[in-house]
Amino acid sequence: MTAPIPREDPHAWQRALRAQFPIVTGHPELAYLDSAATAQKPQAVLDAVQTYLTTSNANSARGTYTWANRTTELVERTRERVARFLGDGRPERSAVHFTSGTTEGLRTIARDWLPGFLRDGDEIVVPDADHQANITPWLEAQRLLAREGVRVRVLPMPYQSGSGDYDHTALAERAGPRTRFVATTHVHHVYGGDMNVHRVREAVGPDAVICLDAAQSVGHLPVSVAESDVDFVVFSGHKALALPGSGAVWARQARGPEFTPGGWSGTPNTVGIASLEAALDWLDAAGVERIERWTVALAARLTDGLRRLDAYEILGCPLSLAADSPVQRRQSIVTLRHRAIDSGDLGFILFSHGFMVRSDHHCQGDGGEKTGSVRVSLHVYNTVEEIDRLLSVLASLQ
Ligand code: PLP
Repeated sequence: MTAPIPREDPHAWQRALRAQFPIVTGHPELAYLDSAATAQKPQAVLDAVQTYLTTSNANSARGTYTWANRTTELVERTRERVARFLGDGRPERSAVHFTSGTTEGLRTIARDWLPGFLRDGDEIVVPDADHQANITPWLEAQRLLAREGVRVRVLPMPYQSGSGDYDHTALAERAGPRTRFVATTHVHHVYGGDMNVHRVREAVGPDAVICLDAAQSVGHLPVSVAESDVDFVVFSGHKALALPGSGAVWARQARGPEFTPGGWSGTPNTVGIASLEAALDWLDAAGVERIERWTVALAARLTDGLRRLDAYEILGCPLSLAADSPVQRRQSIVTLRHRAIDSGDLGFILFSHGFMVRSDHHCQGDGGEKTGSVRVSLHVYNTVEEIDRLLSVLASLQ
């Protein structure tokens, strides 16, 4: 049983949530600041896995006995749960396909759906400074189609220099009637910016299919398919507090052919699905908007502190606690570079002080940063004290 979550005081609320992550509370000497790579799991997710494996483990959609029926129900219930979590008010018109994560989800769309949608002479928009997982599958699809004589032009997604945000004005100028598919990221995994899918839709018009890589947004901020006109939402369970090897593709089924990858066959990762259901329940109970407010405030505190330290450069980040700052546009990822210390070395130094961060290039595509950096990425279990301690270690390295 978990204790009730205090609603009023954000600090008491956060302490109550943090207490539910055994790996975090079990290692007070460490600060986990790498949630963009993978998130830690609350006790409720661990319990759901244990309960499933000790009461219901069987294959789904096959047997006629109780455990098999329970597993089939779990899979179907979690499909609906994913749709509901994404704000889909009409799940009967959409499809949810389980995958091992965002990489497989994007690859599945590129391999099983995109070739049947694109026609000779079409254009696709590919974000070449985003995560490789959201670049390679589309380029592979283009190569395979070319072998069949279907020519597809790739338009690189334009970015603003400095902030690393999409340049929606340049996108609108570049996109034309043949631009039929746009691969978009919701929250950038290096710059932490919300890439503003509404403005992507405005730029490319009502007919293009938009595929949203929501790896860094699901579980961090509300993602609503009712409010944003996207066709696919792809995310990883393990970044949203569920087990590795779980994830999903949500498909609107409105533009283009129906999305039915592989005829829905094969044994699904039922343990991962059980963990995903529990994780989404947990996130809803905690309140994703409150999680966003908490982690964005921590990121702003870190950014403001870093701005006072001359030795550091912050990548693409105008986030600040100042009242006039566009805080909502930035999420819980802050990426920095020391002007003299190599990012790999800085990662080691920080770990010697107990901070677990990610260093290097963060799987960014060829259009991204050429020099490595250190990424600090947060979730609801992170604290003000961790940020202040990190800032004082960073200050000591000036
Ligand atoms: N897309 C983005 C924006 C990411 O940050 C990541 C992982 O870091 C991925 C895709 C790939 O996710 P996964 O490794 O879970 O497949």
